[in-house]
Amino acid sequence: MDQFDTIVLGLGAVGSAAVYQLAARKHNVLGIDQFSPPHTYGSSHGDTRVTRLAIGEGAQYTPLALRSQEIWRDLEKRTDASLLTIDGLLIISSAAKTSITHVDNFFANTLAAAEQFGIDHEVLDAPEIRRRFPAFNVADDEVGYFERDAGFLRPEECIRTQLALAQQGGATIHRDEKVLRFDASDSAVTVTTDQGMYACGHLIVAAGAWLPQLVGRDIAKLFSVYRQVLYWFDIQGDASAFAPQRFPVFIWELQEKPQGVYGFPAIDGPDGGIKIATETYGSTTTSETADRRVLPEEIAAMYRDYVAPYIVGVASRCRRTATCLYTVTPDFGFVIDRHPQSKRVIVASPCSGHGFKHSAAIGEALAQWIVDGRSHIDLGSFNLRRFRIDS
Ligand SMILES: Cc1cc2nc3c(=O)[nH]c(=O)nc-3n(C[C@H](O)[C@H](O)[C@H](O)COP(=O)(O)OP(=O)(O)OC[C@H]3O[C@@H](n4cnc5c(N)ncnc54)[C@H](O)[C@@H]3O)c2cc1C
Repeated sequence: MDQFDTIVLGLGAVGSAAVYQLAARKHNVLGIDQFSPPHTYGSSHGDTRVTRLAIGEGAQYTPLALRSQEIWRDLEKRTDASLLTIDGLLIISSAAKTSITHVDNFFANTLAAAEQFGIDHEVLDAPEIRRRFPAFNVADDEVGYFERDAGFLRPEECIRTQLALAQQGGATIHRDEKVLRFDASDSAVTVTTDQGMYACGHLIVAAGAWLPQLVGRDIAKLFSVYRQVLYWFDIQGDASAFAPQRFPVFIWELQEKPQGVYGFPAIDGPDGGIKIATETYGSTTTSETADRRVLPEEIAAMYRDYVAPYIVGVASRCRRTATCLYTVTPDFGFVIDRHPQSKRVIVASPCSGHGFKHSAAIGEALAQWIVDGRSHIDLGSFNLRRFRIDS
């Protein structure tokens, strides 16, 4: 049986970052994925991910976002990849909002985090939002938070780059190999796949929406998987108004709607459309059974309810769609902790719809955890204890 210091199960956002960071530390690491990442079946596809620095989901996330931006820039220097574009972020909210972005007080928390960490930002009233960003049809009582040093990541390119560098650094990468189970004792872990068995000192389970099937019932019940849809709508009129130089990424906590809307600039020129999405939590699904089709009625409803009333200059014609999976915990926080049955197994699930921006720093912290015994950035608040599971 082949033996490794560490096996990383799943090579999406988190797994690719972990395997890269472990290889950079000359660790004998094997990364395994059931598909060939980047792919379109999990949580890390669809061209773009919002990245912001003042994190409304909780102040504990901001150090991860700050460190991740440093890592993305470092990766760009080491390669010719373009991973991070800074075009600014606009969050729109109001006292009358009815939608929630992951946690209560997302807007106020964002402002507080910006103050706490000294992150450059502006607060805009409705006339100022309209003046600077005329595409947003804001109501008079809506306000904006503008963060200049935020923007978007290219998730597929981030994964591809980290896996390539990991391999250059000596990591073994197995694609199209499915992990069936793992068995952990005090002294070692055995991983069984559809193609073989491997032994390792540590296992990182970074399986995204498949995690519930691998970690045992007590932990699995913490995670709910939801199907999400991404839409690329055509631009009507002046496409340059939606170019990254002029149009920020945005998150809008809407009034009179159960969910907000978020979107990105037109990154592929006038013919690529602009990507806009909302979040849906109507019913849970699984990685195996999620419906990957997007029906015309869904597209029409999205345009009618979440696009046309709010964003000026977007046409109803939808160029393409994609489905993607959120893996959500009860408090919308991450789980990054040792498995209760073995200190040698780390469960790493930073999803709940906001994990990509932090994934580079999480990969680094996991590598530090395994190699040095502790990470520079404290991951303690992502523990299982908060759900009454002792690790
Ligand atoms: C629609 C959508 C929009 C989002 N928007 C944002 C955003 O704007 N900003 C942001 O920061 N975050 C965002 N997120 C969240 C972010 O994308 C996720 O937090 C992140 O991608 C999760 O990465 P992961 O590594 O946990 O999962 P994945 O990237 O899905 O990776 C899991 C991997 O494990 C592999 N795997 C699973 N089971 C097995 C097995 N048995 N054997 C072998 N391999 C296995 C899978 O094939 C997969 O490659 C969004 C998510 C979605 C779905």
